[in-house]
Amino acid sequence: MADRRGLLIILSSPSGAGKSTLARRLMQWDSNLEFSISATTRAPRPGEEHGREYFFLSEDAFKQQVTDGQMLEHAHVFGNFYGSPAGPVRDSIDQGRDVLFDVDWQGEVQIRNSDLGKHALSIFILPPSIPELRRRLEVRGQDSDDVIAKRMLKSWDEISHWGYYDYVLINDDLDATEEKLKTIVSAERMRRIQQPGLQEHIRTLQAEFEDQ
Ligand code: ADP
Ligand code: 5GP
Repeated sequence: MADRRGLLIILSSPSGAGKSTLARRLMQWDSNLEFSISATTRAPRPGEEHGREYFFLSEDAFKQQVTDGQMLEHAHVFGNFYGSPAGPVRDSIDQGRDVLFDVDWQGEVQIRNSDLGKHALSIFILPPSIPELRRRLEVRGQDSDDVIAKRMLKSWDEISHWGYYDYVLINDDLDATEEKLKTIVSAERMRRIQQPGLQEHIRTLQAEFEDQ
């Protein structure tokens, strides 16, 4: 058995607050982190590859995986289905590797309520202001004005679920937010429940104590 169990690290935010940027930085920080590649029914964007950003599935294939119990969670977001395949997550956390999820609030609730929920760590990323959120979506240059308007409209729905999360970070200065995230992950890795070898160590201490 691994020395420690992996965490399910859930990052959520309104689109544009900086969650993907922070997720990338966390992945660069520690090679022990795995990114949970979601399945989706949305079309790939230019540059996206099947099996790298997402597993791009037809609606029928997606629904079949849900029916077969292969999704840890799934949700309908911006008119498409998204879901997190369960198999790789279970393997990783048993091997002591943390899994990073970029999912919306519906995903957070379902992961928290799943059998793996006790290993979940959820972090919500807030923008410093709504005008700054809009500016970031514009600067990113990935979406048309129409899509940016839709994301802005949806942003309050996502923000309104901030209270379900273990931690909430205001992503003003990117480097400072990154440092806070690393601090949170480092501490949470030491939760008692994340250390399966503790019982054994306690038994050894007890035997030594009784023998002295
Ligand atoms: P999300 O994944 O939440 O949709 P991104 O990570 O794509 O957001 O970030 C949106 C844009 O904002 C990107 O251009 C990114 O470089 C920029 N960004 C992220 N965090 C900050 C920050 N703290 N200050 C300024 N710009 C930021
Ligand atoms: P995008 O299409 O821009 O990549 O993602 C749109 C939204 O879907 C984002 O808010 C993202 O967090 C969410 N999302 C991506 N994958 C999943 C998933 O597997 N489950 C859930 N619940 N949400 C997801």
